[in-house]
Amino acid sequence: MPLSKEAARQLVRLQDQDKAIDALQAEIDKVPKAIAEINARIEGRKSRLHDTKARAGAIGMKKKEKEAQVTAKEADIKKHSGQLNTVKTNDAFRALQTEIEAAKAAISDLETEILTLMDDSEIVAKEEKAISAELKAEEGKDREEIAAFEKDKQNFEAKQNVERQKREALVPTIPEDVMKHYDYLRKRKPGGAALAPVLKNLCGGCRIALPPQVVVEVVKAAKLQTCESCHRILYMPENAATPAA
Ligand SMILES: [Zn+2]
Repeated sequence: MPLSKEAARQLVRLQDQDKAIDALQAEIDKVPKAIAEINARIEGRKSRLHDTKARAGAIGMKKKEKEAQVTAKEADIKKHSGQLNTVKTNDAFRALQTEIEAAKAAISDLETEILTLMDDSEIVAKEEKAISAELKAEEGKDREEIAAFEKDKQNFEAKQNVERQKREALVPTIPEDVMKHYDYLRKRKPGGAALAPVLKNLCGGCRIALPPQVVVEVVKAAKLQTCESCHRILYMPENAATPAA
């Protein structure tokens, strides 16, 4: 593939551009994950609040049930007390009295249960209040954090667009077949490193010793030279001492 020194230099610049684009992409890719973590935190707090509210509701229901039972027992007592005056036999009288006593004992037990439920309800109400306050305090911060991440993402994207434009400007300065070969390697090499600098007489990509003739050709840059071992496109770094041809 024919090349020129200028095209070889542009190819190195192109790779620098691609590295800059990739580095910005890595930053952009971090953002959705970071936002998802914050949202999970928000949801976690909301679900804790929801659970606490459900517990408070269950306690309230149970308390109402017990209170209804107390009302029913009180009605029984009232009814049986009224019947005491109308019964004809001692047995019937005693039976009513036994029922009244039993109802009174049941009310006493129910009242103890109601008091316990009231204590529970107070504890849960405190918990609910604490979570609500935490939610309010933290949610504002979380929303701000999300907005900051979104802003970062926009900034990275804007910078990436600039780098992309610079890349696009370089493309026409590089022969088309060289470009194709570069793009092909870029997709396959770790970190998109399609190019390898010649370091002394070694391939900077895989560290294999390069034949002297290859190094000479890389310096000339009249045609594309690739490493026989890792197939990267070889180039001579700008600051390297040019070996005598
Ligand atoms: Zn190599």
